[in-house]
Amino acid sequence: MQALGRATFMAMQLSRRVRGLKPSSTVAVMNKAKALLAQGVPVLNFSAGEPDFDSPEVAKAAAISAIRDNQTKYIPAAGDPASRNLVAEILTKKNQIPGVTPDHVVITTGVKMALYLAFQCLFDSPASGEAPGELILPVPAWVSFAPMAALAGAKVVEVPTTAAGAFKMTPAQLRAAITPCTRVVLVNSPSNPCSTMYTPDELRALAAVVEEAGRTVAPNITIVADELYQNIVFGAVPFMSIGSIAGVAERTLTINGPGKSFAMTGWRLGWLSGSGAFGKQVCDAIGKLQGQTTTCVPAFCLAGMRAALTEGGPDLERSRQAFAKRADLIFALLSAIPNLPVAKPLGAFYVFPDLAAHLGKTTPSGKKLATPVDFAAALLDERQMAVVPGEDFGGAGLHSIRMSFACSDEQIREGCKRLGEFLAELR
Ligand code: PMP
Repeated sequence: MQALGRATFMAMQLSRRVRGLKPSSTVAVMNKAKALLAQGVPVLNFSAGEPDFDSPEVAKAAAISAIRDNQTKYIPAAGDPASRNLVAEILTKKNQIPGVTPDHVVITTGVKMALYLAFQCLFDSPASGEAPGELILPVPAWVSFAPMAALAGAKVVEVPTTAAGAFKMTPAQLRAAITPCTRVVLVNSPSNPCSTMYTPDELRALAAVVEEAGRTVAPNITIVADELYQNIVFGAVPFMSIGSIAGVAERTLTINGPGKSFAMTGWRLGWLSGSGAFGKQVCDAIGKLQGQTTTCVPAFCLAGMRAALTEGGPDLERSRQAFAKRADLIFALLSAIPNLPVAKPLGAFYVFPDLAAHLGKTTPSGKKLATPVDFAAALLDERQMAVVPGEDFGGAGLHSIRMSFACSDEQIREGCKRLGEFLAELR
């Protein structure tokens, strides 16, 4: 009887959807580095996807006071009116996006959930019998865009970008990738993992291609703009929301949240907005999806978010300036390492050095480094340094690693020294 029970259990299978899903490689490296740190191993962690600062005191105080005030019950699925109002005001005044009222904003459980739910609204499952909707994804791209779109039934169309082109998709590449099935063009500027940015003129040129395609070959084309790193920009390229461009405003969903700007990643807050009838339609649909899934975001977290957005300006500026200094430091140190091309970070807090000249070599202890995964594992084992292997970012990630500079200047100096020595010893 017992044996039968065991056999039955072993024969059970989970859904194809979940079986086909890759775990996030960024989270995997971070977990291994954290486990080693917990054992007392002095790991230099360059894998973090979050600021090393504390959340603003104003946010903490507001959230604590909201808990004391018993803001501990369900709120509307799309978010409370005060938060939706505030976000609509910011998007209108600061981001210059037209046609955004509080009804055009939905509050979500982090930016990840905003993206996941947007894709659920825009793509149909393959079971519909139609050709799948297509996501145009410039790569290297943050690791979760493609899996989340695939979960919604999308076909992911990768557009390879190069370090020489600052990891940006050109209008000609976009035009060539568009088909009648194109549903979403993903724009992530500043970008994770490359930290490069589109200039306003480049955004206008991409928008013109989308506008034209919407009138001709791809009537259902939209832009999903992940602007999570909007506030972490270093001045060389001004930030602009592609959703502020009149010709595509009503085809663009803009996604953002306080996580990276205000060091509030663990609060799990984000938002999605859109203009006009389409924007409202998507926000209503996401409200409906959340009503059937997560219900709502905690009210007291939102009290903290509103405080950060209205009073956290000095915290934001302090961290922006620190990241700008670190960007200069890590870029200078990595650029001094032979045969390690790296693009200058213009925003966000990542660098994406190219390992092509070093893959295929062997470490002094005899480990062959065929791939970035091999490289990251050996660097962690042999130099106690955690970086993210580039494979899951796609494209040039197949020969790159991602290093986050959300860490101290001392760590950046020591890490670049260790990396340089490690590379010099490879044969
Ligand atoms: N988009 C990008 C580009 C990111 O880098 C991240 C986090 N690493 C996310 C979305 C997810 O953000 P959140 O933690 O708010 O879900």
